[in-house]
Amino acid sequence: MTTIEHWIGGKPASGASDRLAPVWNPATGEVQAQVRLASTADVDAAVQSAQAAFASWSGQSLANRARVMFRLRDLVERHELELAKIVAAEHGKVVDDARGEIVRGREVIEFACGIASALKGGFSADVSSGVDSYDFREPIGVCAGITPFNFPVMVPMWMHPIAIATGNAFVLKPSERDPSASLFVAQLYADAGLPEGVFNVVNGDKAAVDALLDHPDVAAVSFVGSTPIARYIHERATATGKRVQALGGAKNHAVVMPDANLDWAATQLTAAAFGSAGQRCMAISVAVAVGDAADELVPLLKAKAEAVKVGAGDDPAAEMGPVVTSASLDRVTGLIASGVTQGAEPVVDGRGLQIEGHEGGFFVGPTVLDRVTADMDVYRDEVFGPVLAVVRAATLEEAIDLINANPYGNGTAIFTFDGGAVRTFERGVQVGMIGVNVPIPVPTAHYSFGGWKDSLFGSSHIHGHEGVRFYTRAKVVTARWPKHTESQAAQLNFPTSS
Ligand code: NAD
Repeated sequence: MTTIEHWIGGKPASGASDRLAPVWNPATGEVQAQVRLASTADVDAAVQSAQAAFASWSGQSLANRARVMFRLRDLVERHELELAKIVAAEHGKVVDDARGEIVRGREVIEFACGIASALKGGFSADVSSGVDSYDFREPIGVCAGITPFNFPVMVPMWMHPIAIATGNAFVLKPSERDPSASLFVAQLYADAGLPEGVFNVVNGDKAAVDALLDHPDVAAVSFVGSTPIARYIHERATATGKRVQALGGAKNHAVVMPDANLDWAATQLTAAAFGSAGQRCMAISVAVAVGDAADELVPLLKAKAEAVKVGAGDDPAAEMGPVVTSASLDRVTGLIASGVTQGAEPVVDGRGLQIEGHEGGFFVGPTVLDRVTADMDVYRDEVFGPVLAVVRAATLEEAIDLINANPYGNGTAIFTFDGGAVRTFERGVQVGMIGVNVPIPVPTAHYSFGGWKDSLFGSSHIHGHEGVRFYTRAKVVTARWPKHTESQAAQLNFPTSS
């Protein structure tokens, strides 16, 4: 059986640990490989390799760093299908969906190609008599990324292209459930001419994560994953003085106003709830139907959910694959069952779905539950599966109150033609990313991605200009150039501008 190793110092590395974990094929339910789980010593080797590379990489010109990004961008585009198949095989999502995440990840590399513009500082002549001020930003050292299973290419790419283009070295700890894509990207970096040690991958579990959090030579930690782990990462890594951005889980509501194009909204909600089997942090998991919208919306959702083609990730006809593990399947079906027990109406029930030839796969079909209320477990928990809960609200204000009472604040959307309702909504919700007739409002690479409340711990959103700031620190210079012959009496008062 194949053992998936690490990538340290510009090449594959086995490390010292003999701990291994299974990597499943979610479409068949079989173990397809095993991944080595790094020890503290293995993580230390990766950090030391990165630390050694940082010294020269941080001194490279912006032009040279950008050229590596341009070459990486072309390689990612050229190998898109190959990489998508690797993602589909371990994650379970369909290949076309995997291609989508690779394109969105590549867009961050494209942003990093323009790093010279993104790092431009300011210059103010004559801030005081004969005095000029300017600022610039420098890289911070070795940066670590700890990432979830659901976007094994895109989420790491929210981090490493910007960290590396700004002059840092990077150690990535991807999810142990789908580790191969990161090793493929490491090879692409090498092919793009990135010096050895600037990008490293350590595979592993909590032991590897803790070793990164505690390592004195790690300057910053970017984390994306579930809320309890995000909170833990933030607490532990800030305690050792690191910069931390820790993005957590979500419960994304889409408000459907009665004036909306309900057929179009139902189509959008179907894609946003069931794409990637609902395993997206920006998936819509709650449709809040306002006024009498529900009576027309729910039958439309039923028809569209029933039409979704479910199958293995490598089946070209499939639109939605399995969930990632049998534990995930049990959690999702358990939450559907509890919803029904607690009074929700199962409009479409995806439990017990069998896919011919894949009877052992972790499949659960699209599920729509109507008349869900805020006290039900299926509403309160992050399901992270293909389940859309419909909650009925009398007014827009009631819908906004519902969203704001939820501990998560990642993404939300509103469907309407009413500009006033949109304005009330976008100013009223305590949520970081808002879609207007857009169900999955993932910001493009030159904006930054981040939620509010329990969806983000730390003050910085990820990628875009907030990413540049996160991976750099500022220097501000105040400069005066007196003549060689100039003299002045000492002034002991605190200096003021004149
Ligand atoms: P997870 O929190 O289980 O794992 C994320 C990472 O943390 C993995 O690398 C994992 O190895 C590590 N980890 C797990 N348990 C740990 C522990 N006890 N101590 C230290 N490290 C640990 O998340 P997941 O199941 O891989 O991904 C799904 C979750 O990620 C969902 O909650 C989803 O909403 C969230 N997510 C959020 C965003 C966002 O941008 N906010 C994006 C994608 C996914």
